Amino acid sequence: MQPVAFLTQHGKVPLLVDALAPLGWQVFGVTGFDTDLLGSFAGEQPRFMTAAECALRKAAIAAELAGTAIGIGSEGSFTAGPYGLGTLNQELLCCVHLDEGWAVTARAQQLCTARSWQVTAATELETILPTLPNQQLLLVKQGPRLAKALSVAQARRHCVDWLDAGPVQLEYDLRAHCSPERQQVIRLAAENLYQRLQRRCPHCQTPGFWPEQALSGLPCADCGQPTQQARGHRASCQRCDYQQDQLHSGGYADPAYCQYCNP
Ligand SMILES: [Zn+2]
Ligand SMILES: [Zn+2]
Repeated sequence: MQPVAFLTQHGKVPLLVDALAPLGWQVFGVTGFDTDLLGSFAGEQPRFMTAAECALRKAAIAAELAGTAIGIGSEGSFTAGPYGLGTLNQELLCCVHLDEGWAVTARAQQLCTARSWQVTAATELETILPTLPNQQLLLVKQGPRLAKALSVAQARRHCVDWLDAGPVQLEYDLRAHCSPERQQVIRLAAENLYQRLQRRCPHCQTPGFWPEQALSGLPCADCGQPTQQARGHRASCQRCDYQQDQLHSGGYADPAYCQYCNP
């Protein structure tokens, strides 16, 4: 088995183990570095890198701390969902191979329920708390005060105690070990990482040869002119720049997307 170091403070190792075992990889957790220094969910530290940069940085730190050739870092983000509906949880897993000199970044995303409430009276808790899913932990905020990873009973106690001093903010704790929904997205990202690692450049065998870049130009169904709709995807090798296009077979764009038919 190849030892693979995963930098995590929040117990995500079991979420990756099964997906990566077929590679002969033994994923183990590395602690000893405060990942919150790179930015954290509850907002105590400002972020100064993109999610992908953060995941890559963590992967390299993991390998360096553990003295392994391969390291993995993860990073999750939450943004407003498409059309402003719900919350989109995106999870990145970056894998670096320090000896071979490559990095592969996998992604998964899913709409999630990231609910929050402004609580002004204890009676409101009686309508909020019974609706919460099992195993979803909570956090409670009031000004500079913050309590995390709370069960429903603990969250109730904090809210009731702190309400004397004014309204409290009650939220889902979205850190991975507190959120079953997020754990599911991280599992999907691990499967995506496995698939990307399997795809090697036909020219130089570097992993991560993945059809990521959309190619526009799908012909209009009415006039046949190229549109901005994707006609396929391009894979590019990060090492030797070899490229391969995978075009959708047949298919036409809706004329609604055509700048000639529907300018
Ligand atoms: Zn290549
Ligand atoms: Zn057209």
